[in-house]
Amino acid sequence: MSKILITSALPYVNGVKHLGNLVGSLLPADVHARFRRQIGDEVLFICGTDEHGTPAELGALAAGEEVRRYCDTQHALQADVYRRFGLSFDHFGRSSCRQNHALTQHFYRRLAAAGLIEERTLRQVWSPLDGRFLPDRYVLGTCPHCGSTAARGDQCDGCGVLLDPPDLVAPRSALSGDTALELRETRHLFLRQSLLVDRLKAWLRTRTGWPPFVASLAESWLTSDLRDRCITRDLAWGVPVPDVASKDFYVWFDAPIGYIAATQEWADEDPARRRWQDWWWQAEDVRYIQFLGKDNVPFHAVSFPATLIGSGEPWKTVDVIKGFHWLNYEGGKFSTSRRRGIFADAALDELPADLWRWWLIANAPETADTDFTVARFAADVNKDLADVFGNLVNRLVRFAAQAFDARVPHGGEPGARERALAAEIEARVARLRAHHEALEFRQAAAETRAIWARANAYVQEAAPWSAVNFDRARAAVATRTALNLVRLSAVLAWSIVPALAQTVLAALGEDTPIPAWPAEPGADLLHDQQAGRPIAPIGPLVAKLDAADIDRLSRRFGGREPSAR
Ligand SMILES: [Zn+2]
Repeated sequence: MSKILITSALPYVNGVKHLGNLVGSLLPADVHARFRRQIGDEVLFICGTDEHGTPAELGALAAGEEVRRYCDTQHALQADVYRRFGLSFDHFGRSSCRQNHALTQHFYRRLAAAGLIEERTLRQVWSPLDGRFLPDRYVLGTCPHCGSTAARGDQCDGCGVLLDPPDLVAPRSALSGDTALELRETRHLFLRQSLLVDRLKAWLRTRTGWPPFVASLAESWLTSDLRDRCITRDLAWGVPVPDVASKDFYVWFDAPIGYIAATQEWADEDPARRRWQDWWWQAEDVRYIQFLGKDNVPFHAVSFPATLIGSGEPWKTVDVIKGFHWLNYEGGKFSTSRRRGIFADAALDELPADLWRWWLIANAPETADTDFTVARFAADVNKDLADVFGNLVNRLVRFAAQAFDARVPHGGEPGARERALAAEIEARVARLRAHHEALEFRQAAAETRAIWARANAYVQEAAPWSAVNFDRARAAVATRTALNLVRLSAVLAWSIVPALAQTVLAALGEDTPIPAWPAEPGADLLHDQQAGRPIAPIGPLVAKLDAADIDRLSRRFGGREPSAR
């Protein structure tokens, strides 16, 4: 048994996230956590909302609420959506918790004592009308490269170039429209990452199992050009910098520390049995896997390790970063600010979570960006879940009800066909397990689907509905083997489609919260231990999406125009 620490990128507190956010971190982290629990590993799956910074302040302002109260509401909304999506966090915390304040200040003091913090004077945009310094992204203006008039102080979305606010032509405040902006001097603290490059490179060389694009992204940051990072901001909502008035830490300094703080919160709920130190402090026996989108790689491969290693203390650092490319939406980008794409709450209004979970994992953007379209989604869900998995389950349950009084039948002996099936399934399950262990989500979904398809092929060949008319023992063994296959198919799919799997297992009289991974899947298919067990009727496992559903989804989610009919 291994100890596996899993964290997913912390979703920012403002607003419900879209499917791109889900597949880029939260959902694969959940699938892996579930798989690890199935094989008997000791798992701790930690996530939480990233709450500090300007967007939360501005969201609260727009809602006319005090910022902590606003974050309380937004955190609760997100926690509810993730619960309904089946995300099985051991703890879903908040970066604004008191533990994170204390830990962030602790790391700052350690880094300062190690000579890794330096105060520097910066010139920053001040808005007289707003009465505050403006974060880069709240300065708007014309892009000096492409002429777009909607460029932000950090980046131009028109041409993608990275900018500093003084680069903008005709800058204005995104808050008030103030054009009388000034550059004023202000003092900030920098984490001297440049002094840590050699230690970080040596650390990175000891990591294995990263997707190649993540490893090369990390390496590309760890060069002599690595810049020291400013870790303070002029904010009212954040972790205060000790001994420096009116400055808070930049969210990118305190947010990843929130993984540790959330674990402390989790441990504080049951201090007699849980110790956060077992996961984070001198925890060489723990394997730590982070799930995140490619934009977060520099923070988790460079900045957070710099914080942990720079402290000089024995903190657990990440073993594997599983990064993801983007999920695009109908040929363009998902966008939270422009409300483009499918948001998790709206997705659940329309269809059960498992349909979305299945499609997203089967098409996870692991090696390149992937495009979501309503048409592809509907075609895949219909084929994989309704025609293959659903059909397997429904026709066996129905047939057992008609021919064997709704029980797993006794009698008959497995023959050559069953033994060949068992050998093939044994090999396929071993491959499936290897894909899960290697964090290969698309391949895991493909092998899961292949096992369902193989099960259907067996049922088709063995044709118990035909055998029952002339050889009842043969029909019994075929039906029993097929029902064992149904059970196995559900157990193997549980990490990806937990609710569908539980429905099937419940119909077979099983009610374990975590169905164990089969140790001998081939032998399981041939045994008759289940004989005599009642089978409860179930309705269609997955209803096919028809043309009306597809039109409705297309209309609601604003993708391609619905087809004319
Ligand atoms: Zn531009």
